[in-house]
Amino acid sequence: DLSRTNVVDLLNILVTDKPVKFEWIKRRIEQMWPHWQAAFASMKERIDLQNTVQKRILIHIGVLSNEDKMHFAKEATKGGPLGELVQWSDVIASLYMLGHDVTVSADLATVQRVLGSFAKAKKQCPQEMPDNIDLVFIDYIGLRELSVKIGTLLPQFKCKLRIVDSFGTEAQFNYNLFKENIPGGSMGAYGRHNLDLRQYQTMFPHSPDNSFLGFVVNTSPPLKAAKRTRRKAKALVYGKHVGMWQNLQNKGFLEVINKYVEVHATVGGGSESEVARHLPNFVINHGVVSQAEVHKLLNESMVFVGLGFPYEGPAPLEAIANGCFFINPKFNPPRNRLNTPFFKNKPTLRQHPYCEEFIGSPHVYTIDVNVLSEVEEAMKEIVLKEDFCQHKPWPPIKALVPVQGEAGRSCKEVCLSKGMVCEPEFFSKINSRDSLTENGYPCNTSAVEEVPSLIAPGYRQNPPACIVQTQALLFSCTGTSPSTMRLCPCRKFKKGQVALCEEC
Ligand code: UDP
Repeated sequence: DLSRTNVVDLLNILVTDKPVKFEWIKRRIEQMWPHWQAAFASMKERIDLQNTVQKRILIHIGVLSNEDKMHFAKEATKGGPLGELVQWSDVIASLYMLGHDVTVSADLATVQRVLGSFAKAKKQCPQEMPDNIDLVFIDYIGLRELSVKIGTLLPQFKCKLRIVDSFGTEAQFNYNLFKENIPGGSMGAYGRHNLDLRQYQTMFPHSPDNSFLGFVVNTSPPLKAAKRTRRKAKALVYGKHVGMWQNLQNKGFLEVINKYVEVHATVGGGSESEVARHLPNFVINHGVVSQAEVHKLLNESMVFVGLGFPYEGPAPLEAIANGCFFINPKFNPPRNRLNTPFFKNKPTLRQHPYCEEFIGSPHVYTIDVNVLSEVEEAMKEIVLKEDFCQHKPWPPIKALVPVQGEAGRSCKEVCLSKGMVCEPEFFSKINSRDSLTENGYPCNTSAVEEVPSLIAPGYRQNPPACIVQTQALLFSCTGTSPSTMRLCPCRKFKKGQVALCEEC
């Protein structure tokens, strides 16, 4: 079924005992639907889906099934955790759009209905393959519910599990006979399921042992065609529950940031006055808002500021995708299950610092926010980054790959033909007789013309001359001349992210 274009059909299958459980997920799916449709349409152009097999997939969301204890749904609009709901929304939307036969469960009765025949068959004939379901997407909480209901899970069933596990699970927490001491002691509620580690699907690429599932990061709201507000000097703080502010030892760094930009936040978790008590008075609080509104705020902001907790969820990536710099509080020593209660029961030794290691400069400033001079330094750099009054070199020079062009071709074409882009920042670095010589032109013997030119630096064959630029404003990636071979400042780029380079 490749015609799943109607989001209402999907929303209609999201039914459970309490409507509130699916509310936030439904809103996200609805809001993202145009993106899913566009992505699916482009995928269909590239991949022939005619022969894909429709799978019967059960998606059981344990955190919602245990709503009475966990309150994920109730707190979704009040500053509670949303990362898991983001991920579940995207799992549901993508599997549905791919045409699979999807049942989504947020209560035990539904799982029992779907797996009931299997559970019965298992009693009568324990070796029987469960044949009414091909795959089960589930979380740790749901897996525990399931094990309680159907007892020990047979290998034929276990291999069908895909555990949506935001933190990831390391081998010593998965293998139930692991004998050596685990730093920090027991693994609490998680682990010991003896699955293939790749059955754990993580929110970030924490460890290659697990599978990286991820989530969708989108920018300004779809359809309401982005009337891009001029970027005001604003910061948005990463902390949507008042508790995240209450426990802050030192709010001094926010004062430093406030010297440079307006400080905004979306904080809930109490009445307006309760929340206000824990926020510095200069913070402009919008209360917890919809995702579309978060994106609008991010779009208007220059900086997204971490408080230290939450550590890393979807929000910093959305911020970076919307053009913000991210101030990422550094912990020394890094937080792990030995020194931080939050990580105590997680089936991993430590969470991987994704923004710091995988994104890094210039988008992410991982700094000790208690050292105010570091904050000051970061803010100065951020405010200057897009400032054409004071030149700050970027990208770093190590990304430069000088390339000799053929006569008549622009640097845009020359770089592209080598799988790179022309980087204007680097023109000044290769604009000299020495540089032309080093890169293969006979410029130690030819005449040198120093002129304002659209095709400099370059080498003209007839009459032979090396051309060196005298007017920086004329440096051009697109300039061409039939008689001149250009020297081009190319750099590699990230696939699908042409503004970023591989090593910078
Ligand atoms: N978000 C929201 N309203 C707000 C603040 C955030 O809808 O007022 C969204 C945000 O756009 C992101 C999601 O909450 O998609 C979860 O982000 P976060 O990184 O805070 O993850 P969590 O810590 O909740 O798991």
